Amino acid sequence: MEPEIPNVEDAFAVLASSLRLQILQALADETDGISRSFTDLYEAVDTSNTSQFSYHLNELTDRYVQQTEEGYVISDAGRRIIQSMNAGEYTLQPDFEPVTVSTHCPYCGETSAEATYDGQLATVDCLSCEFTLLRYDLRPAHVENRSPLQALKAADRQMRAEYGTALTGVCPRCGGSIDLDVLTGSKVDPATALIVCDCRHCGTTLSAPVEIALLHHPEVVSRYWDEDVNTVTTPIWEMLSHLAKWSVELDESEPLTVVAAENERIRIDVSCEAWAQANLIDSVRLHNCRRTH
Ligand SMILES: [Zn+2]
Ligand SMILES: [Zn+2]
Repeated sequence: MEPEIPNVEDAFAVLASSLRLQILQALADETDGISRSFTDLYEAVDTSNTSQFSYHLNELTDRYVQQTEEGYVISDAGRRIIQSMNAGEYTLQPDFEPVTVSTHCPYCGETSAEATYDGQLATVDCLSCEFTLLRYDLRPAHVENRSPLQALKAADRQMRAEYGTALTGVCPRCGGSIDLDVLTGSKVDPATALIVCDCRHCGTTLSAPVEIALLHHPEVVSRYWDEDVNTVTTPIWEMLSHLAKWSVELDESEPLTVVAAENERIRIDVSCEAWAQANLIDSVRLHNCRRTH
């Protein structure tokens, strides 16, 4: 039987009240998971009308608030709403000053790039050929109490952690199942093999070149660690000078991906089948955009 589809409009309409959001915040502040009594909660919010308070609390109950024998606790859904609200995800825009970073442009060899925020994404663009090297989902919390460079590094780490989780078959945003595709021969960049992670549940899509995915591979991590390079925490714009020396070969008949890094000092065979088996993924599919059939 298909699960019942919740009424999304109702779920959000319930939140359109400052008193209800105050109630959720008061419950979220109770971090040790103890229920708050009706009276305690009433005194924590800004109202002097018991019946009005009771009505609003009742509207939140079940979906965002759970009633226990001792009182009221916030639900997981309620806590996620309050966490996103406190992080400014619905109300704030990041305040980000442009910053210059060291890199290696794979298209022209330039070693400087500028990171700017365009109102939706932070992009790192080559200062010479202006190609966009990287895109980041910069959130208000990334910039808080951080310099522009630290904020960009925070967004880089978050993006890589989320992509790393998606590569194991788990959506980093909702926990749903991931469909994983290896895309080759794209018109945008024929030399690159992209690994695309699609969540079947919430529609999140994360994609990056196969080299970025392999920066977490134990063989790559240990080889670079010997050279004092931490491939997990070094920002991608700095790793680009190393990645420029990698070559990616794709044996599409298997399908098998072979990456020879830095003049074949590291060779890694990535079998799509083994990848799927080692993770929570049904299958890894290889698509060649050049093929017409
Ligand atoms: Zn360039
Ligand atoms: Zn998802």
